[in-house]
Amino acid sequence: NQQIILAERPKGMPDTRTFKIVEKNVEELEKGQVLIKTLLVSVDPYMRGRMQDEESYIEPYEVGQVIEGGAIGEVIESKSDQFKQGDVVIGMFGWQKYYAANEKEIRKIDPSLAPISTHLGILGLTGLTAYFGLLDIGKPKKGETVVISGAAGAVGSSVGQIAKIKGARVVGIAGSDEKISYLKKELGFDEGINYRTVKDMASEIRLKCPDGVDVYFDNVGGEISDAVLTQLNRFARIPVCGAISSYNLEEADIGPRVQGTLIKKSALMQGFTAGNYSDRFPEGAKQLAQWLQEGKLKYRETIKAGFENIPSAFLDLFKGNNIGKLLVKVSER
Ligand code: NDP
Repeated sequence: NQQIILAERPKGMPDTRTFKIVEKNVEELEKGQVLIKTLLVSVDPYMRGRMQDEESYIEPYEVGQVIEGGAIGEVIESKSDQFKQGDVVIGMFGWQKYYAANEKEIRKIDPSLAPISTHLGILGLTGLTAYFGLLDIGKPKKGETVVISGAAGAVGSSVGQIAKIKGARVVGIAGSDEKISYLKKELGFDEGINYRTVKDMASEIRLKCPDGVDVYFDNVGGEISDAVLTQLNRFARIPVCGAISSYNLEEADIGPRVQGTLIKKSALMQGFTAGNYSDRFPEGAKQLAQWLQEGKLKYRETIKAGFENIPSAFLDLFKGNNIGKLLVKVSER
């Protein structure tokens, strides 16, 4: 068996020293366990936070520990009454080729309903993050302007489409012209801003949002968000989903103080994690699946191949090398 472990805690951007592939024998199965062959693994920005020894909503990885994260696999041997050989399962077993799972750690997925990869993306935590963050905190109304940073990524591209379903005018911010064209032509965004080529973000946002910003769904933080916050309308809502621009900084990112803006605009800014809504996941998953079926929600995936390429795929997130959900295919079913 091969596993990818955290070899050392990164300072700044992770690199080849951060991860190590190790060989390890798979343990003998005990009653209630199944042996899983990994098919697909998810690489996610939040994993960067877990590489740091810091208090968060989720435990940090230990040095020497397998990188844990969302993954899908096939049961190849079973000593559980609940799973049989051939079942496709999802769990948090992460970056390893095989895993002896306890039956309580995994959940069966039905490969006949939708491509299995969607359970790590649009029908999984990604879609649920977009759904609850936008609808519960952002609460977009018909005709309002919704701005999304990280708009062509997994969460952002879902947020924009849900905002369109709710009748909002949607403006996406992303890092390439190809991404902007994808958002407008394929996903129906009204406008897009390539933050890498634009000269003055605040005036560009004013131009693309002539009626101001009612909802800002923030995936990136930093200077992009500073600029969007200058264009808020009264009673604007700001779901703070992620701050990827700061995840690899070695020193704290100090920006403009926002209290004055929030007061002047009576704006609401709220951080959240998808886990806050775990008791409502069935509701969200059902709605997302329905929109998908009706063709109201589209998704794209960037799928890299090869177990050994998982670390570089993870780093691609910080380079913007993905459109939609970034996954790595480890083996065929
Ligand atoms: P994405 O698919 O959006 O991938 C990350 C994207 O971020 C890249 O494609 C890149 O696109 C953009 N990016 C990278 N570095 C920067 C930077 N310095 N400045 C601006 N943009 C940058 O990942 P996810 O959809 O999985 O996650 C999006 C955000 O949501 C992350 O911040 C993540 O931590 C957060 N998140 C939060 C959850 C929660 O429960 N609160 C759950 C899931 C995700 P580009 O080319 O546009 O730069």
